[in-house]
Amino acid sequence: MYKLSKFVHFIGKKNTIRHSLNFESVVVDQKTADYFKMLIKNRSLCIDIQMIDKSILTKLMQQKMIVDEKEDYHLVTSIVEESKISEIKSLFLIVTRKCNLRCTYCFYSSNNSLSLSKVMSMNEDVAIKAINVFSKLTKTINPTITFYGGEPLLNLPVISSSIRYARKLQKEGKLGERLKFIVNTNGTLVNEKFIELALKENIEVQISIDGFKEVHDYCRVTKDGQGSFDKVIQSIKKMVNSGVNVVPMITITESNMDDLPEFIEWLCVYAKIKTYCMNLLMSTTGGCKSDYPNRAAKTMWMANDISSKYGVHDDGFVSQVKGFFGPKVCGSGCGATGRKITVFPEGEVHVCQALEKAKVAFMGDLSTIKKDNKTMQIWKERSRFKNENCLKCPILGACDNGCAAGSFHSHGSIMTNDPNHCKWIKSLFKMWISNI
Ligand code: SF4
Ligand code: SF4
Repeated sequence: MYKLSKFVHFIGKKNTIRHSLNFESVVVDQKTADYFKMLIKNRSLCIDIQMIDKSILTKLMQQKMIVDEKEDYHLVTSIVEESKISEIKSLFLIVTRKCNLRCTYCFYSSNNSLSLSKVMSMNEDVAIKAINVFSKLTKTINPTITFYGGEPLLNLPVISSSIRYARKLQKEGKLGERLKFIVNTNGTLVNEKFIELALKENIEVQISIDGFKEVHDYCRVTKDGQGSFDKVIQSIKKMVNSGVNVVPMITITESNMDDLPEFIEWLCVYAKIKTYCMNLLMSTTGGCKSDYPNRAAKTMWMANDISSKYGVHDDGFVSQVKGFFGPKVCGSGCGATGRKITVFPEGEVHVCQALEKAKVAFMGDLSTIKKDNKTMQIWKERSRFKNENCLKCPILGACDNGCAAGSFHSHGSIMTNDPNHCKWIKSLFKMWISNI
């Protein structure tokens, strides 16, 4: 008994069917198209293979578009099992909760993320314990340690000593050969000492910037309300000129969206950036309109068209669009589903830096953490392949499932869709399909 796979959809050009997991597409004749449309409306019906032209029947079977009753089920089961094999690759160290800015959309200001802890900055002992724990949990050749905050450069001594210690473990063969460091900063406290360290250790310096001065200074302000744009641009230029690996990080908001393509071009020409990264607002934060994800997709597309002329790309965006070509099923984009641990200043360990107060991400403290931690096992269960709506989605294989914290903010559960991401990637796909 054969069936039309539940992953077959009509997409794009006339009579073109596409498999939402292996991304193969086949153009069928009108009679077959009509028959398949009827089967798509009644997915439980078996297929009469005599109705299908022999010339394409073999192809449809090879590409798993016509399947026997169990094949779809086995395919999904194997993907879900494979996704659970993820290994820890990344350590986030929240080296301080303090920040010299008061950005309006910082996740620390959302209710679920506020910390109740009184410990504001991490000391060297906690940082070293965290790196020891990480080195025992990770087996990857390319581990990453990210210094995060608050504003991490307020605790530069702990960043420096952590890097020294991690390098020592690396030399002893206890941390992977391609160990990488990232600092995620607001860019206002960059000094010569940090530039020297960034160059020596090839640190990826992610700098938050929102757009031209007026827009950036509206949200990213000091305690006394002064804008930070001039200082941030100065830091970016100085670091780019010194050869530091700088990645401008741009959160798309209602206020900056219209100007971003032009702003990216300005960064390419004026600051000579080599790359950049655009992010969506976390769902339900930032007060955006319902069509925000669609407009954000358009903005990213336009920005990419412009930056490509300068040989500059948003690597995340490019790899997302490449994902539409297949043939691989995209893994989870959320590191908290088994690939990362986050350590807070007092030594609490979470799967991710968001949702600190909500506690759903809490794993324990540094002295008790083990690889089979219960919280991490629960987060590993987050999969679009367990969500009935996602299983019907034509871009199931290319979607990375978005941010679990966004799901939690929207629906009170990490297992549901992340609304901003879901709408955004569907829009992006529509743009892509209309361009091929
Ligand atoms: S999250 Fe949205 S886009 Fe992604 S697979 Fe599910 S329904 Fe599709
Ligand atoms: S929950 Fe969101 S913020 Fe946390 S690791 Fe996943 S994608 Fe990142």
